[in-house]
Amino acid sequence: LLSRLKDKSILHTSGWISGEWTHGSSKNGTFEVQNPATGTLLATMPLMKVNETRAAIAAADSVFPEWRRHTAKERSNILKRWQTEILAHAEDLATILTSEGGKPLAEARAEIASGAASVEWMAEECRRVEGDVLQSTGSDRRMLTLKQPVGVVGAITPWNFPFSMITRKVAPALAAGCTVVIKPAELTPLSAVALAELAERAGLPDGVLNVVFGDAPAIGHELATNIDVRKIGFTGSTSVGKALAATAAGHVKRISLELGGNAPLIVFDDADLELASAGVVASALRNAGQTCVCANRVFVHESVHDKLADMVASRVQKLRLGDGLSPDTNIGPLISEAAVAKVTAHVDDAVAKGAKVLVGGKKASLASPLSNGTFFEPTVLGDATIDMRLFKEETFGPLIPFFKFGSTSEVVQLANNTEYGLAAYFFTKDLAKAWRTAEDLEYGMVGINDVAITNEAAPFGGVKQSGLGREQSKYGIQEFLDIKYVCMGLG
Ligand code: ADP
Repeated sequence: LLSRLKDKSILHTSGWISGEWTHGSSKNGTFEVQNPATGTLLATMPLMKVNETRAAIAAADSVFPEWRRHTAKERSNILKRWQTEILAHAEDLATILTSEGGKPLAEARAEIASGAASVEWMAEECRRVEGDVLQSTGSDRRMLTLKQPVGVVGAITPWNFPFSMITRKVAPALAAGCTVVIKPAELTPLSAVALAELAERAGLPDGVLNVVFGDAPAIGHELATNIDVRKIGFTGSTSVGKALAATAAGHVKRISLELGGNAPLIVFDDADLELASAGVVASALRNAGQTCVCANRVFVHESVHDKLADMVASRVQKLRLGDGLSPDTNIGPLISEAAVAKVTAHVDDAVAKGAKVLVGGKKASLASPLSNGTFFEPTVLGDATIDMRLFKEETFGPLIPFFKFGSTSEVVQLANNTEYGLAAYFFTKDLAKAWRTAEDLEYGMVGINDVAITNEAAPFGGVKQSGLGREQSKYGIQEFLDIKYVCMGLG
């Protein structure tokens, strides 16, 4: 990996606490980071535990009073310099991201750009944090609100967006005046430490941002119980998110959760089928199907079902599976062999219950000498039904199941028939249907005739068991601010 980087010094193999690159206690041991496409060893990292987490929290806590006293403009300028550093190193960051996470370079570049855009947005939003002067209830008093940073934030992030899940949490936290301890996924810590290096170069004071990784349950428990941590921001699986929320609740910590999704994509009979077929493929196969907003269940009106299935199948057949670092790859590996096993189980279950394989359907024969194979053929299934596992469970792989529907009320009910509520998409040209369906879908985000809906200006988040709170946009920074009410008696 090092030989591919222009600026080799952004790659670190240690944690970052109080402005020091550190291995923590040598008794803890190490863990390995591998390239999921090849199984190649990328780095050996120190395994950090409770003591390192406490040191990181103490560092964040000790500099919090000073960081919050910086003017918004000073914080904004540091964030802008961080954005500049990120953009100047975009190609190296994309190479690191693809090497540890597997996604094709084009997707990695897009993720770096979106992460940089979040930093830029929050650098701007930083200066628009304002309280209010309220209408007073008496002539002898004045009433106002102040917006103040919540304090030390613990941010726990997943491997599927090793870069932008960090910027999305850290940028608003820093903008609001909070200090942060990040715990990136152990599968993909190299993007996190590169970001910390660039933050340091941007002039972020020591201790404002800290990075620890290793023993995820121990670090997570410390972040959720330590009295000095005031807020947890988590993106990951629903099961870990629920457990973390339960622990944090015992200490009345604020928490934001971005959890699983089970996104429906509905194609009505009046839809532009070219647009819809492109949307199905782009959404369902982004990051090889490993995003929480990927279309998981494609519902197609029975009158256009067969035609759309053919159009999608012919698009999918043209995709090239391979190592994300090779320029002509459209779909990279899955993150692990366990992920391949899950997709295989979902396909086998569906086929046993009557689904038809239209494209793909099995593990791809792209195993390298170091791995038993992390590639799964992009797969299209027809005749999917609601008794299949893929209807209820998030597959997190390159799987596109087609379901038929007849009426709008039927499909809205099917789409909402899940414990999740993150993103939903539909295609129609009928304005009334568009309004009503957008209102009736129980989801935090809805794309109409569009699937690439995530960006720094729009609120990202879910309802039901997909999460709590919103990231990005003008709403995102509010999650890191407390409202203080001040009442001034005039005597
Ligand atoms: P995924 O399925 O995306 O791997 P996880 O929820 O396992 O989802 O991982 C998301 C993040 O949560 C990662 O940083 C992971 O290390 C972390 N994590 C895993 N287990 C725990 C835990 N018990 N407490 C806190 N964080 C955890």
